[in-house]
Parts: sequence; structure tokens; C-alpha cells
Amino acid sequence: MMNYPLTLPHLLERARLIHGSAEIVSRMPDKSLHRYTYDDFVRRAKSLAKALIQAGLRKGDRVGTLMWNHYVHLEAYFGIPVSGGVLHTLNLRLHPDEIAYIAGHAEDRFLIVDDVLLPLLKRFEDKLRVEKIIVVPLTGQPVPEPYTDYEAFIAGAGSPDDFEYPDLDEQDALGMCYTSGTTGRPKGVVYSHRSMILHSFACAMTDTMGLSIKDSAMPVVPMFHVNAWGLPFTLTMVGSKQVYPGPHLDPVSLLELMQHEQVTFAAGVPTIWFGILQELEKNPGHWKLQDGLRTAVGGSAAPESMLRGMDRHGVRVIHAWGMTETAPVGTVGILKPHLLKRSEDEQYAWRAKQGIPVPFVEIRVVGENGEAPWDGKSMGELEVRGPWVAAAYHNLPDGSDSFTEDGWFRTGDVATIDEEGYMKITDRTKDLIKSGGEWISSVDLENAIMAHPAVKEAAVVGISHPKWQERPLAVVVKKEGADLTLEGLHAFLAPKFAKWWLPDEMVFVDEIPRTSAGKFLKSRLREEYKDLYSGGSAS
Ligand code: AMP
Repeated sequence: MMNYPLTLPHLLERARLIHGSAEIVSRMPDKSLHRYTYDDFVRRAKSLAKALIQAGLRKGDRVGTLMWNHYVHLEAYFGIPVSGGVLHTLNLRLHPDEIAYIAGHAEDRFLIVDDVLLPLLKRFEDKLRVEKIIVVPLTGQPVPEPYTDYEAFIAGAGSPDDFEYPDLDEQDALGMCYTSGTTGRPKGVVYSHRSMILHSFACAMTDTMGLSIKDSAMPVVPMFHVNAWGLPFTLTMVGSKQVYPGPHLDPVSLLELMQHEQVTFAAGVPTIWFGILQELEKNPGHWKLQDGLRTAVGGSAAPESMLRGMDRHGVRVIHAWGMTETAPVGTVGILKPHLLKRSEDEQYAWRAKQGIPVPFVEIRVVGENGEAPWDGKSMGELEVRGPWVAAAYHNLPDGSDSFTEDGWFRTGDVATIDEEGYMKITDRTKDLIKSGGEWISSVDLENAIMAHPAVKEAAVVGISHPKWQERPLAVVVKKEGADLTLEGLHAFLAPKFAKWWLPDEMVFVDEIPRTSAGKFLKSRLREEYKDLYSGGSAS
């Protein structure tokens, strides 16, 4: 067989040749809809590639993006890698210092920013070492000096027709994304062309997300978080209509867009779907969604209550598990036909599991006594391997204990695998809280709280929350005679952390329970306060 490279230029050319008239719709900051075709998209992506090369981009240079989900970000998803550059998506929900650290660690040479995100950029721009900042005039306002206007930048490249793709090897870097889902500093994961192409095939499969040319697909999952689950690549490969919500992520805006663009497939974290479900329940019969609408839900567990709720409204949830280090899709909660004969309750219990591995992803669970049997009971740390699983972190001189000697990636998730091959996450070894799809480090919060003069000791744990899935709780031992209020604590922490990191509640205890090794016994705290947020205190 031919040695044909699995690289992005093929997808882009195919998009032009085969799917040229398919549509891409984006919600703009002023809520108007921008529409164009795959043909327009390909021309502009190639113009971007040409402009970057003309601006001096060399193969392997990182180009950062600080953008919402819309057509220009899609152009960057393709234009940067086909120029030989590396698409580095920056997570705009992180603290500005952290974004600056990540852009610095990745050595981003260029940066593309939405004009509506300039206020955020200003908060860390002085710490950046990028050569050129290109601003996307989404609002139509003139781009201020000294930035480069994206439209002028790509227009300046001349016609895309004579653009020649540079030589690309399938193992060349296509993109990178930093995960804050680990302890310590965020770590960079580099995706190859090959890994993202193979990932696209696996994601499109009927028994994964079942994506097709007939779909009108809306990635709500941010394009700055794990390649928006690879959807921009997969959807472009299959030629679906693509619908991007821009910065408007509230339930009513999303429902309006789904209704207007006849969306048949959407993807996002559970918090998004909790909101949508609530709106659907509040206004029965009001929203006219497509028959057979599917939603891929992941990033945190899709609980049974959500599966049942969505079913009541005719929306089919596809529950998926994955990580930044796994590109991300690893397992999918699709039921085998014989399981569809089980009782309704049993089926829901199965669908609430994280599911079976997709082809080419291998999973195992390793406990204290080595690899655990697939019996649905034996727990251990989940390990994975496959062609779209990271083999290392970017530029981490001290290495990482996340990779085993025999070539598996240690996920930090604690799981069981049953006889049928369905994986179920039961806990996490990482000291992190996942709120609305984004990570909060309990250790960073604890250290900061313990620096407060009134605090003797503090532990921070994630407590389950009806809207955000998990929210932090501070468990504090006060110094004798000292006093502390939640407001006082917030004021103390505010300069160091993004607002949504701050603990919703604080409880005082005489001492924090510890393990025999002297570490905080967080499982006991989580158990003791597990119902604290059931009423939904965070807004
Ligand atoms: P990230 O790298 O930020 O995408 O986070 C990956 C982590 O999110 C995993 O290691 C899990 O802890 C969690 N996660 C992702 N999907 C699910 C899911 N379906 N159910 C439970 N946890 C999940």
C-alpha cells in the first residue's frame, strides 16, 4: 500500500472539493449570525497559512489563539497547522498569570485574539514574549494600534490559489493544549497530524458520535479546551454543517441557535446540559428541536438524572470520557444490543458509566495488586494507551510520573471495568475539583488559605453540585482567638485566583482528619459534607 501521510492538508482540500457548498454558521458577539460555506472557509484558512509564512513562521512555530468558538477560530484550527505551525489554543477561563505562563512555556511566536477578548489580553500582555498579535475584528470596530488586523493580515497574503502546502510528516505537531488537570504547573500536550486524523475517524463512527454529512453539528465545548473534542476536524472530515455559538453559552441562546439552525448533534460539558434541561422543563412545548437530536456529554460525569431528563425531551445523550492527554475521546457509553433488553433502570445505570473504549484505545485498571480483573468491582487507577494518547508532556525536563515503564498513560482517575468492558469512574487520585468543565486546584487554594493570618490549617475539597458538578468547600481550623468570614477569605484570595475558583462555603472544625501517613483524609471530608451544595448555592 502507498505510504500516504495522515495530515491536515488532505482534509482541507477534500472540504473544498467535496463539501464546498456545506455551511458554517457562527453567532457573533452582537448575536447576529455569520454564515459562509466550506469553500469560503478553505480559501481563508489557506490565506491565513500563506500570511503566517510570509510573516516569517517557520515549521514547528507555535501560534497561540485566545478565541471563542466561531469561524475564524476554525480557520486557525486548519490554517496554522497547514502552514507548518502549531495551533496552541489558550484557555481564556484561566487566571491571566496562568495564561501568560502557558504562552511563555510553549514559546508562542504569534497570537490571534478576538477583539472582544482584548480586555483579558491587557491583563497579561506585558508578560508575553510573542512577536505579533493579530486581532480578529468580530465586532466590526477598527483594530487598535499596535495590533495587526486579522482581515488585513490574510488579505495581504494575496490569492490563496497559489498557496503551496509545506512538506508535512504525519508525525509533525499539529497543535497543543495545556492541561490544568494535573498537580503543579499546567502541562502541555502536543498532538500530531496523525493522532488527530485517526481520532477523527474514531469519533465519526456510528457507535461513537455517529457524525455524518447529514448532521448540523454544534460544538459548545470550547475550542480552547482539548480541540473542542476534535470536532472541528471530525466535522470538516465528514462535511457536516457546523454551528458555532460564539460567546453566547446561556441555555436560551443555545436553544435559539439549535432551533434556528436545525441542529441534530451538539456537544458540551454537563453544566451546559443541566441549564438546557432546566429551560426545557420550564417551558414545555416551547422549543422545537430536531427529532433524534443527539448530544455528546463529557468532561465530567453525565449523571443518570440527566440521561433520564434528556430522554423525556427526546434528546439522546452520548456519554463520553476523555482527557487533554487523550485528544480527548477515550470511551463512549453506547449500549450493546443485548443490554438494550435489560430493564430500564439497568440500562440507565449502564449508560451512566463512562463506557467502552473506542477502537485503538486500550484501557486497564491497576490497583495495589497489579492489573485488576474486569469484574465491575475491582477498583484502581485507570491507565490508557493508543495512537492519540500522549507519550510525554511538552518540554518537561524532570519528566512525569504519569507514564508507566511499559508505555501506558496514568490518568489519575479511579475506575472499575466490568465484564462487558464498560469503564466506570469512581473517584480521582488527583487533588483537583472540576467545576463546570474546568479545573480548580484544591492544593493551590489550601496553600493560599493557610497563608491567611487567622488560619491554622485548611483543606479544600470538591463537593458535588447540581449545576457545576463540583464546587470547592474550605474546611478551616482557625488560630486561637482569630476570626474569619467567608467574605474576608474571598477578599484575601481574590488577587491570586480567578473568581470562580473561590470556595462557595467555609466550615470551621477543630482539626482536619488525617491518614496514618499524616495527609489530609479528604475522602472523609467529602463524605461528611457531601450534601452541602445539594440546594445549589453557587450561581
Ligand atoms: P481534561 O483534561 O481537563 O479534559 O479533564 C479530563 C478529566 O475529566 C478526566 O481525567 C476525568 O477526571 C474527567 N472526566 C472527563 N470525562 C468524564 C466523564 N464522562 N465522567 C467523569 N469524569 C470525566
